[in-house]
Amino acid sequence: MVNLFSWRNIPGAKTLFAMIFMAGIGLIVSIVALLYLSLHLISTKSNDIDRHRTALSVEGAVQTSVNRVWSLVIDNAVWDDAVRKVYAPQPDTGWLYNTWGAGFKINNLYDGTFILDEQFDVLWGSFRSEPFSERDITFFGEGLRAIINANREALQSGEHIYAGLTRTRAGIAFIGIGLVRPMIGRLQVYDGTRRYLVITRHLNAQILTNLGNTFQINGLNFTDGTPSEFSVPLRSAADEVLGYLNWTPRLPGVEAAKAASGDITRIVLLASGLITLFILLSSVGLYKLARGERLARETALTDWLSHLPNRRALIERLDEISARGETDIKSVVFIDLDGFKDVNDVYGHDVGDELIVSIAGVLKVKVPNGGMLARMGGDEFAMTIGGLHAAAKAAAFAGSVLEFFNAPIRLGERTLHMGASIGIASGSLVECTSSELFRRADIAMYHSKITGKGRVTHYDAELNSAREYQLMVERDIRYGLENDEFDVWYQPIVDAVSLKMIGVEALVRWPRRGFGELKPDEFIAIAESSGLIYALGQFVLRRACHDLQPMSDLKLSVNISPAQFRDPEFEDKVAGVLALTRFPARRLQLEVTETYVLENPERARTAIVNLKALGTSVALDDFGTGYSSIGYLRRFNFDNIKIDKSLAGLVDSDGQAAALVSGTIRIASALGMTVTAEGVENEKQLRQLQLAGCDQLQGYYFSEPVPLEALLKSYRQPEAFMDAPVLPVYRGNP
Ligand code: C2E
Ligand code: CA
Ligand code: CA
Repeated sequence: MVNLFSWRNIPGAKTLFAMIFMAGIGLIVSIVALLYLSLHLISTKSNDIDRHRTALSVEGAVQTSVNRVWSLVIDNAVWDDAVRKVYAPQPDTGWLYNTWGAGFKINNLYDGTFILDEQFDVLWGSFRSEPFSERDITFFGEGLRAIINANREALQSGEHIYAGLTRTRAGIAFIGIGLVRPMIGRLQVYDGTRRYLVITRHLNAQILTNLGNTFQINGLNFTDGTPSEFSVPLRSAADEVLGYLNWTPRLPGVEAAKAASGDITRIVLLASGLITLFILLSSVGLYKLARGERLARETALTDWLSHLPNRRALIERLDEISARGETDIKSVVFIDLDGFKDVNDVYGHDVGDELIVSIAGVLKVKVPNGGMLARMGGDEFAMTIGGLHAAAKAAAFAGSVLEFFNAPIRLGERTLHMGASIGIASGSLVECTSSELFRRADIAMYHSKITGKGRVTHYDAELNSAREYQLMVERDIRYGLENDEFDVWYQPIVDAVSLKMIGVEALVRWPRRGFGELKPDEFIAIAESSGLIYALGQFVLRRACHDLQPMSDLKLSVNISPAQFRDPEFEDKVAGVLALTRFPARRLQLEVTETYVLENPERARTAIVNLKALGTSVALDDFGTGYSSIGYLRRFNFDNIKIDKSLAGLVDSDGQAAALVSGTIRIASALGMTVTAEGVENEKQLRQLQLAGCDQLQGYYFSEPVPLEALLKSYRQPEAFMDAPVLPVYRGNP
């Protein structure tokens, strides 16, 4: 069998799962990326900040060194003693050396002191405690020259003291210059004589180390080559770049990142864990949802009783095939159980359910490969199959189903005789929709049902028009019942010896004014299959009882169709009509056909017992058309047997038929049943049947069925009735 239900059938679930999974992975990746990116950003930012700050510190350190030289110049140039010594016609070199020249060795605050004259030429100098003998100032480089050129006036007046950076021949130096002058008051010279004090301090490793310590700069050093990311330029007072001060960066960002990385890893792990948990939980939820959906679908597509796929599942399957545009032939086999309703009525619904389950189990095994069996509801099953030889496989399946129903079905202690009416329709789903295919199989099945059941019918177009005709007749019957279109006619039944009318058989008539009469044989079956027979049968019974009520010496015989007889409330309905029309039960006889009795022996027996209890008699109609022997039928206790006209009408021409009739009559009388012969059309038949011992006779030879008025007339004035040409014998004794 085909598995209808699987994950495949829930298309959304898989995609949704993949989406959640991808989203989760994406989330984890982005969180990791975000964390590391921000860490990186913060680290470079704080490195930048640190670099900037260190650069400021280095610049501050340089400025501080310049300021220190400037202070030294103030301290030494603005000094009364110095004025006396350096402005003397012969400067006191001894004093100069002791005061300034030797200072290098003592305090290391400077490394050179010089006195310049008004021409800014060197008058006296001491560099690193050695006498300086050069006359011009080229030794001091562009820095000093620039200071002098820019501030000549201010220098001459002693107004300001200047300091800056320069490159001397001995290296990079902080340099300061100022006029030597008294602390208080003006300089006491009246010519252009000027004496300037110049102090130098050359940059060296020691100074840099001290500066680095003071300003907390790591690895402070000087290079005159290319600068790095961590360096600031040193500019002379002449604005030339003298070189660069470099330092070793501390990279606090990197350190912080290193310190934080442990925490970040933990955060990443935690977030990943949470997201994985989320994916897991939602996957579980999704799975449950999908399973719930699948279960709901399963339930919606499965028959609760037989657990077979149901009608919807089957139609969905066929629609699927037709959606694929497959052009090969599909077949639908429609199976309707015969006699199921009786099982339900007689044994109850539990047994009915059990029977359905048991039959479903058997049918399932017979389904050919690739076929699908479904319960369509009630006692209907359908099987569809496609592919190569679909029609042949369908026919074989139908045949094996019929064969199965040939044998009685054992259900616990019960043995049930069941049958099946089967219809088959085949076609490609491109030219004929799946529901049309079902409709056709249904029509074919219906044809099997009304043409004797227990058979297989293949659909063809004629069946279709037959079905359409039936639907039309059904509609008309319904309309006819509502509009009182039906009549009841009566055919006399005479005593075989006296030939006196002792009863009548009620026969329904439908003139269908405006359309033309339909014979009972043409519409009774349709009324039966559509359920309209209940209303029609009730109508005939009521009308006949009502009509015959006043003719107190006539018995009334009414035909009952199998469907009516099957109705568990039938006996009550009969009693109701009797009460309503005040018709004596003993005057009523109900005629039942053999087929029904054979199909539903249990129900037939109970019904007969119940009806007899009411006082009503029961006749077996149409005897001789079926197969059963009179011996079999005695179990049912019929009061009367009606030999069908197809058999009774042969007694004058067919010796075998005559022997069969007389044999039947003998056995029936022995069993206490009376016998009525139908279809008596001539005198020869009359004589033969009389000789055979028939009790009652009925046929055109005595009278055709007539309307109530005609019956009443002959009943009141037998003479006038006897004059009728079709009633030659009725008038007198044989
Ligand atoms: P049936 O029960 O066998 O009724 C007898 C049929 O034989 C009647 O046909 C009747 O007109 C016909 N008939 C009577 N004498 C002769 C004769 O000498 N020669 C020939 N050739 N035929 C004769 P009708 O009225 O057409 O009814 C046909 C069948 O329809 C009945 O067969 C009966 O089975 C069914 N039927 C008629 N009325 C009712 C009804 O009210 N309820 C039910 N359930 N069935 C009915
Ligand atoms: Ca009859
Ligand atoms: Ca009959």
